[in-house]
Amino acid sequence: MAVLLPPTATRGFAALGLVQERNFRLHLRCADCSHVEELTIRLFDEVDDPATATDFYESGALGQIEYACERCGCEAAIVVGEVEYVPTASEASDVA
Ligand SMILES: [Zn+2]
Repeated sequence: MAVLLPPTATRGFAALGLVQERNFRLHLRCADCSHVEELTIRLFDEVDDPATATDFYESGALGQIEYACERCGCEAAIVVGEVEYVPTASEASDVA
């Protein structure tokens, strides 16, 4: 799956009424020079409701990423590979 990001977007997620931080890790490949960057996106969600990559896509967060290639400055990129949910510290300790 590849999602084309809009060339410009504003950063900032509405946090009203949402209480726990969710982190997602993804890789973006510059549409111009193909440089790949890892990016961690923070969202906020309900407590005890671990999110999935599908939730991430459905949240519309991709459209809010403010991207500019660190190498060439291009503002368009595609998502490469999987979007990975990063467990919170408490979730990670539950597994261990
Ligand atoms: Zn680039």
